[in-house]
Order: sequence, then C-alpha cells, then structure tokens
Amino acid sequence: MNSSSYKNYLLDCKKSINKDKKINLCSIETTDLSLDVFRNFDKVKQLASNIRYKFINEIDKNLIIFDKNFTENGGNIHWCIAYDDFMEKLLRLLDKENIKSTNIFSSMFTEELGVETIKDESDIKINPKTNDSIIFAPQFGIINSGSLFLNFNSAYDMELVLGSKLKIFVLPINDFLFKIEDIEIFSHLYSIYKNKIDYPYLTSVYTPSPLEKDNNVHLFLVDNGRSNILENKDIRKALTCIHCDACKKVCPVYNIIGDKPYDNIFSGPIANVILPFTENIESYKHLAFSSCTLCGNCSKICPVNIPVSELIISNKHYFFENKYMDIQDNRLTKNLSKTLLFRNKMNAKKFIKNLKIKMLLNSSITEKYIFTKSTFNQQYQINNNNESNKN
Ligand code: SF4
Repeated sequence: MNSSSYKNYLLDCKKSINKDKKINLCSIETTDLSLDVFRNFDKVKQLASNIRYKFINEIDKNLIIFDKNFTENGGNIHWCIAYDDFMEKLLRLLDKENIKSTNIFSSMFTEELGVETIKDESDIKINPKTNDSIIFAPQFGIINSGSLFLNFNSAYDMELVLGSKLKIFVLPINDFLFKIEDIEIFSHLYSIYKNKIDYPYLTSVYTPSPLEKDNNVHLFLVDNGRSNILENKDIRKALTCIHCDACKKVCPVYNIIGDKPYDNIFSGPIANVILPFTENIESYKHLAFSSCTLCGNCSKICPVNIPVSELIISNKHYFFENKYMDIQDNRLTKNLSKTLLFRNKMNAKKFIKNLKIKMLLNSSITEKYIFTKSTFNQQYQINNNNESNKN
C-alpha cells in the first residue's frame, strides 16, 4: 500500500512498539464472573446478539417509534448527520436558551463528536460544577418507553445530570435496546467485560415527563457515518457493538501497537472493521490488511457474538472487489491467488516458488527467508503416513 495514511500508520506502529511489554492473551478473567452471574453464558451471549441485531436490521422503523415515544414524553429530538450538522444545531440551541456555560460529561461519544470544541467555536465556557446546562451521552436509548439508560461515574455526576435545568443528551443512532427489561442483561455483560464487575454501580433510566415543570430535555441523535455501515450487509453486525473493549484486550496486534497508530477515538479490532466506513476507505483500508493476524481471539471473546475477524476478512474482499486497492497491490493479490488456490502449485519445488515470489515482489529477498523445503501440507501427509504405518 502506498497511501500516506498507511505510511504514517506504519511509522506510528514502529514508535509504539514496546518490546519489553509482557502480553497475556489467554483470557481476560471474565469466565468465573460470567458463570456466577449467568447459568448458561453462551445462551446469554446469543440472546444479547439477537436483541441487538434485530434492532439494527430494522433500525429505521425502530428509531421512528423511539422518536414518537420520546417526543410524547416531552423530550425534543434533533437528528444530525455528522459533526458539522451536530455542532451547528447544538450552538443554535445553547444560544436560544441563553446559555453562557455548560457542563460536559466526557465519554467516548462526546469525544467522537468533539463536543468540547464548543469553547473554541463560541463564547460558551465549560464549567464542571454547573447544572444549569449539561451535555451527557447515555449508554442506550430504550425504544418502547422513549427513555434513556444513563450510566454514571459518581453520585455527584448523577446529581448534576438528573437535577439539571437544561438536559442535552447525545446518542449515536445504533445504541438502542427495545425495552427496559433488556437493560439487565446488557448491563451485566458490559460491566463484566469492561470493568470486571458484575453490575454498573450507578445507573438510571431517565424518561422525560410532560408533567414536569420547566421540562427542557433535548436529545441529539447522530449518524456520523453509521449509515455507511448499514448499507453494507456483510459488516452491519459491527453496529451491535456495546463498546466493552474486550476484543482490544485479547488482540495481539493492539496489545503491541496501542491506540496511537489509529489516530482516532476508535481503536482495536472493531475499529479495523468500522473506520473505513465511518471515516473514509482510502485513509483506513490498510487496517484490514495490516492490523490483524486473523487469530480469531476477538470473535471468540465478544459478548454479543460479533464475528470481528470474519468482518475484517469481509472488508478485504470488499476493498479488492470494489477496486479500492492500489494497482500494485491488486496485481500482487491476483497473482498470489493464482497460486494459493491450487494445491499442486503450493506444493511445487522450493526454488520455483522462491523464484516466482521474487519476480512478483520485484525484490532482493534472500531464499532462506521465503519457502521451506516442504509445505505444511506435505509435512502433514508424511506424518500421517508414518502414523498409519505404525498402526
Ligand atoms: S466488538 Fe469488541 S468492543 Fe464491541 S462488543 Fe464485541 S468485544 Fe466488545
């Protein structure tokens, strides 16, 4: 790959590698806790996966129901396409409400939206003590009740948010559950995988009420590239992610390179799948090829059964078939597949394969670093024959 983003990515990877770091990829020690909480953990994971996938597959219909219920409860919804649109609408609201300072509760989504930049784009100050106006990202929206599920870091935060006169919530279009009863299972799964505790400490289901005096509740529902993922049926499942970070903890590549090479709020295995679509393919396509060893740890650990490594393979196919790869890489892939798909060519003599790969890569790689005398398939056949002769 020749793109400058790929070259910068490689440079950052080299800088980030910490050779002394010890990596334990065997488990993230959730098993005992999961079995304490759920009798049949596999069944729970499947149930969680079904709930989230059912929502995503009919997201348009479900969001309309939520909009109706939330509005009937007295809340106001602002639909936003991306950052610019969101920021414009947010500043307009703050101006209309004559807000001079607001309290922003930092989270992954407020960072993704760059909410804190309002201090650069306007005269509004950020005040961590005020509850005149707050900006907060709920964990989920609840379709059937038109409510929001809030997860707090402290009782102080909880008091400020729930007691605020002007409540501004921000939520991506994919973080929803159907009903209040669903919260139980997702709270357990999220806490076990994210924080190794069996349930979050401080949560609240917040439903705006039209009967409340001075009810001033606003929800900004932001797409920010998610609909690009929805359009691609093969990787749509990535939108069911609950942001528990478990896949990061078991990824051998992420454990070595960390966040920096991603240059984005999203990082790790699930970022390899979604960033080319939420940002742009040209700047992030290299993640499918260079950030994954296809070990499958991420798919195995995911509490909502997202087949993360399979989705990364799916991205590779998509980029190849839709001609997003550089001419050079395209030629290389086509030529390699002519050999890799045929067993007799793979089992050809070592010097023939080395010669071909040198011509293909146009490089001076020495023979000893490329093919061994016999392939794994040949060694397997020899071992198998020896075993059957013994028997
Ligand atoms: S994809 Fe990763 S972050 Fe998302 S739910 Fe699965 S394990 Fe958690």
